[in-house]
Amino acid sequence: MKRSVDAAAQRQVSGSGHRPARPGWDCRDCYQPWPCPPAQVHLAESYEADRPGLAVYMATLYVAAVHELPSIPAGLLYGQFVAWTRALARRPATPEGRQLTREIHQAVHIPRVRL
Ligand SMILES: [Zn+2]
Repeated sequence: MKRSVDAAAQRQVSGSGHRPARPGWDCRDCYQPWPCPPAQVHLAESYEADRPGLAVYMATLYVAAVHELPSIPAGLLYGQFVAWTRALARRPATPEGRQLTREIHQAVHIPRVRL
């Protein structure tokens, strides 16, 4: 399971350059908790036509992060990994790329707490 999650994480975010450094789950590029805003935008664009798929994918990574970051409350990790995908799901995709990009940036602007 862990191996397939690792491979999936590398494959999904490789286009953005903002990949997680595990097991700490900070971004290798900007050192923010992953998924950082650029990674969220890349993921949201990659899953533009499959928002439920994005939620499932991030939920899978959330489970991995809960195991790898036992000192961080699971609720905080849920906000970091999954909650932002729910905000996206409430905003229907539009055919206009500019509109979609603006919606993604608005949706992913969720403050996160670092312990
Ligand atoms: Zn980053």
